[in-house]
Amino acid sequence: MEEQSLDNLPLTQNLPLSQDSFIQLWDSVVTPSISTIPTVTYVSNETWRPDSNMDMLLINDQALTEGFDENLFELPPEMSTKDVVTPPSSTVPVTTDYPGEYGFQLRFQKSGTAKSVTSTYSELLNKLYCQLAKTSPVEVLVSKEPPACAILRATAVYKKTEHVADVVRRCPHHQNEDAAEHRSHLIRVEGSQRAQYFEDLHTKRQSVTVPYEPPQLGSEMTTILLSFMCNSSCMGGMNRRPILTILTLETPEGLVLGRRCFEVRVCACPGRDRKTEEANSAKMQNGTKQTKKRKSNPAPDMTSAKKPKSASSAEEEDKDVYVLHVRGRERFEMLKKINDGLELLDKESKTKTKLTVKQEVPLPSNGKRLLQRGERSDSD
Ligand SMILES: [Zn+2]
Repeated sequence: MEEQSLDNLPLTQNLPLSQDSFIQLWDSVVTPSISTIPTVTYVSNETWRPDSNMDMLLINDQALTEGFDENLFELPPEMSTKDVVTPPSSTVPVTTDYPGEYGFQLRFQKSGTAKSVTSTYSELLNKLYCQLAKTSPVEVLVSKEPPACAILRATAVYKKTEHVADVVRRCPHHQNEDAAEHRSHLIRVEGSQRAQYFEDLHTKRQSVTVPYEPPQLGSEMTTILLSFMCNSSCMGGMNRRPILTILTLETPEGLVLGRRCFEVRVCACPGRDRKTEEANSAKMQNGTKQTKKRKSNPAPDMTSAKKPKSASSAEEEDKDVYVLHVRGRERFEMLKKINDGLELLDKESKTKTKLTVKQEVPLPSNGKRLLQRGERSDSD
């Protein structure tokens, strides 16, 4: 290439005053694609040993000089699942809570269910409702100081067994319109220069970490800011499959010191959806409370407000009516007799002392059960 070819270059910027050589000029003109520029978030690696099985995304020199991997842009919906071999059970993330010796706990701010709320947490359902890309503060509490350089890691996993082998990633649409290096990650940590994004070499599962910071003076917890970069309904991504977020407290070597899980729904109206799902869950609890031990979480007030109180005070009465399908006339008559008897007992108990026998109908041995009204579907 000679100097005269400069005339043909479609340069839109001014040439440097000292035109040393074309190669130098060219170097000054061609800028790397924005997605290959290393950012501060990717550089600090001192807390991660190279033998850790988590692989830094795009941190090696090779990735930076090779430039941009075009495959990252073109992610057909199938591709994210196609190349994932169903991991053996040990690599399926554990989703049980484990406070560990440091008493690891999470707490969420009480944001209510107003229409305008962008992120709200249901204690009843252990479920976070948030809008796409909006920040959800998560408060981290420990009962004693974890070891130096401990980290917090957030991983997303599908809630249902039939989906748990699939890796949670953003949908192709949202990945394509994002230039960030970690654009395929559903979960982001905001407001920290020290957030690091990982993809496990073998399972391809993605996670984000931040160093654990002890609470500031006068505070009992530290807060991390999570945001979720796809809607739960995103086609080719979560596709209406419910997810759990796993937050782990780990040593720099990746040893888990504590773990907490919560469900997440990313949607347009977090307040409304939380209200609806809590109401559905309360209904379901009402339907099954005769046979199931009550949860320690108290049901929201709306259920008791709706119910007109009968004369009895010690125990609330279940006035809901359930339909039981019974096979065979004979069996039906038998169960009807039992029910009639119970009804009679109920009537008598109104005037006498409270009876503890309620609609607990002995069920036939083939396991027919009462229909649970308002049984909640997790998928939406
Ligand atoms: Zn999406």
